[in-house]
Amino acid sequence: MTRTIFYTALGLDRAHTLREDEEWLAQRLGGAGIRVFPLWRDRVLVSAADNPDAILMADAEATALHSQSGETVFLGVDGDVAYFATDLSHLEEPANHVPLPENTSFEDLRRLAGDLEHGTATMLAYARALAYWHRTHQFCGMCGAPTESRKAGHERKCTNPDCGKTHFPRTDPAVIMLVTLGNGKNQRALLAQNKRFPSGIRYSTLAGFVEPAETLEQAVAREVFEETGIRVSDVQYQASQPWPFPANLMLGFRASAENEDIVIQEDEIADARWFSRDEVLDMAAQDGVLPPSQISISRWLIDTWLDETA
Ligand SMILES: [Zn+2]
Repeated sequence: MTRTIFYTALGLDRAHTLREDEEWLAQRLGGAGIRVFPLWRDRVLVSAADNPDAILMADAEATALHSQSGETVFLGVDGDVAYFATDLSHLEEPANHVPLPENTSFEDLRRLAGDLEHGTATMLAYARALAYWHRTHQFCGMCGAPTESRKAGHERKCTNPDCGKTHFPRTDPAVIMLVTLGNGKNQRALLAQNKRFPSGIRYSTLAGFVEPAETLEQAVAREVFEETGIRVSDVQYQASQPWPFPANLMLGFRASAENEDIVIQEDEIADARWFSRDEVLDMAAQDGVLPPSQISISRWLIDTWLDETA
């Protein structure tokens, strides 16, 4: 069974050469054949309905939006239509300045992504990541002078002529791994409750950020040992997932455990255990033990493991 990883279905051509085509950009932003996602303080505009849908503004409406924008970024093209996102974060109440459709509200993408069409959710993830980067890189890290957007929102350049450093969007790699013990039907997987989980009741795969001058395989082994005292071998890459909350790329791995006794790092981990496949399948039915969200690569790693002998 092939399982889908969420936020991976960008149906756009990123068309990077058009990012520098000022004439084309000006013409499109003048209102011809464009669709624009409004964003506000990391939130996306959706219809306020039981089945929320992302709001895209077209042509003249989109131009009005762009004229109020702190930052407009070009996402890509789909056929003849060009897609942009515009960040209204500088406005206290966007609806007072921009003609937003009625019965809409700005909402957290993470909370409603599972209700959105996959391609749309992916475009919004891309837009959210760029908007966040612009908001948090207003000043040059080299000299402290203001920076300004270039290449339709895909670079920022320092305005100090003596510096002129170009800054690029950040993507921070993080490893996420399903560690298994034993083989075949009796194989078990290491899942943990992270103290930061809002519910505090969710078991998930281990994860952590890659450090400077570290390979991905080394990061997997280090994080697993730090958090649970388990040594791993046979670290194998599986798949990746963009996770723009705010700027991560999740790199999914499998690894084999060399020892069984778990010693948790109490600052970060509330509990860690070995789960059989049957125990994982029973999770949803157990009080206080829930599997990770369907939109996370953690769930994909777990489901893929469950499929192996299902
Ligand atoms: Zn500078």
